[in-house]
Order: sequence, then structure tokens, then C-alpha cells
Amino acid sequence: MRRRTRQRSFASCTTPDLRFASRQKRAVKKEGSNRLRPEVESQLVSFLQTLARSSQAVLLLDYDGTLAPFLADRDRAYPYPGVALLLQEIVRNSRTRAVVVSGRDAGEILPLLNIHPRPEVWGVHGLQRLRTNGIMEMPRLDDRTLNGLSDADRWLDYLQLRHVAEFKAGSIAVHWRGLSESEAEDIRSRVLVGWRAIAENSGLNVLNFDGGVEIRSPQANKGDAVRAFLSEINPDTPAAYLGDDSTDESAFHAMQGRGLTILVRPTWRETAAQLWLKPPEELRDFLGLWLKACAEQDAFNGAHAPTISRTAR
Ligand SMILES: [Mg+2]
Repeated sequence: MRRRTRQRSFASCTTPDLRFASRQKRAVKKEGSNRLRPEVESQLVSFLQTLARSSQAVLLLDYDGTLAPFLADRDRAYPYPGVALLLQEIVRNSRTRAVVVSGRDAGEILPLLNIHPRPEVWGVHGLQRLRTNGIMEMPRLDDRTLNGLSDADRWLDYLQLRHVAEFKAGSIAVHWRGLSESEAEDIRSRVLVGWRAIAENSGLNVLNFDGGVEIRSPQANKGDAVRAFLSEINPDTPAAYLGDDSTDESAFHAMQGRGLTILVRPTWRETAAQLWLKPPEELRDFLGLWLKACAEQDAFNGAHAPTISRTAR
């Protein structure tokens, strides 16, 4: 047993990159051959090699539609089975900073995701930043924005649609998931008649998303959140952004030249993302490979350490 360990350590010393690349290819094939498509496999191998050579990495994730399936009852939209566990192991491995970037209020994410240690969360499309120490940061909204949101709320009250609205700091979203197509279109058209005029007068943005429409402060979007976060870390740190919705496209653009971008969606659509994963199987495969890359490199470092020590002497 001891002899085998020495042999592995010696081989690792000679060609670590080639050995790791080979292991990653085997891992991708073994864990994902029935689920990951060949074009996804080939692009992931290269990224995982970079990931495993790095001491730190960043995993940026949208929540609804990406980590969790859409539900009409948003309060019960828990992650796909197995996803929270994989994310928790990735966070506990300590080489990856996991960051959730969501349209939801940041405070809603942690109870749904329920992983420890808690990840950082950027809420309301990046307007809020909930740090891992529990401190929430948010810019002060100006009077024009607040008055516009107040008018948007009054419009919903007039339409008697407040019960389908989500009220957030700096934003109001109307949801129609679970309703028929005609009911959804009826709500959408009535809401937009008022909201478009309010947005024009108050400088707010009206944003369509999968299953609803939102009126919100123009002070941030997910692309701004990604740029702000990446500006704080070493530019060589491997990073990936996973998202499903049109609101994630600004984040995909912000990641260009800076990291891997992945559309997570049951069906493909036009996108700026580089890869497409079908949830939940391919998402779990990807997270499993991410964890494996970090864990394998930890094992490699452990095996490598005695040799480095002997060389130093
Ligand atoms: Mg989403």
C-alpha cells in the first residue's frame, strides 16, 4: 500500500498537467457519458484543468430556473435534488467562492438553498449584496425611483393584481407562472399599459423574465453585479456563471473573456453563453466535476508535498 502511494507521487511529479488532463477526461466520460453531450465534455475538460491548477475559483449562479425548478409557489422553490448537497461540498472544499446572483430579494435565497457555510448573495439583479457575514449592502434609492415604484404599486392596486406581485427593495415583479397562456397575456398587457408610462416618467426599467414582468430601479443589473464582483478578485481566477433567463444575458456578456458562461435550461434558446446544460442531470454532472477537480487537486497536492519537501532540502 505504501509502495503504491510512492509510485503515484513520483508519477505526479513528472507530468502533473498531462496526468490531470487524463484523469479529467476519464472523470467526464465516467460520470457524464450518458448525459453530457460531446461538445460540452470537450469544453469542460479544458476549463477543469485550469480550475484544478488554481488555488481559488469563483462559481456564480442564478437561482430560479438554474439551481431550482420554477414553481407557482415561489416560497417552495427548493433546489433540484442533489444540487444543494453538491454546492455545499464545493463551498466546504474552500477553494471556491460560490456567489448567487438572483432577481429575488437576497434574504429569500439562503433559507431555500440551506447550505453551510452560507454563500454570498447578490439580490434584486445585483442591487443588493448580502455578504457571507450577514451584512446587507444596498445603495440608497433616489426619490424619483421611490415615487415611480409607488406609482407602479398603485397601478397594481387599481388593477386588483397586488396578490400576484412580489415587492422587493427597488423593484416590483408580477408573476403569472401556473396560469394559462391567455390569463398570463391578459395580466401582462394590463400591467404594461400603466407600467410603461410610469417607467418613462420615473426612469425605471421594465424587464420581462420567464414567468413574469418586473419594474425596477435602473441602478444595477446582473452584468453590473458580475463586473463589480470580478473587479475585486485576481483576474487569473477561474470563474463560471450559470443562468437560465433573459436577465442572465447581461451577466453572460460581462463574463466574456473572463470565464465560462453556461445556459442552464431544459431547452436551448439564443444566448451569449458558451455552453448549454439541461437541468437537473447535466447540472449535477457539472457541479460534480467541479467538486472533483478541486478535490483531486487537493489530493495531488497532498501526494506532491513530500517530494517538494525533499527537493527543497
Ligand atoms: Mg433564473
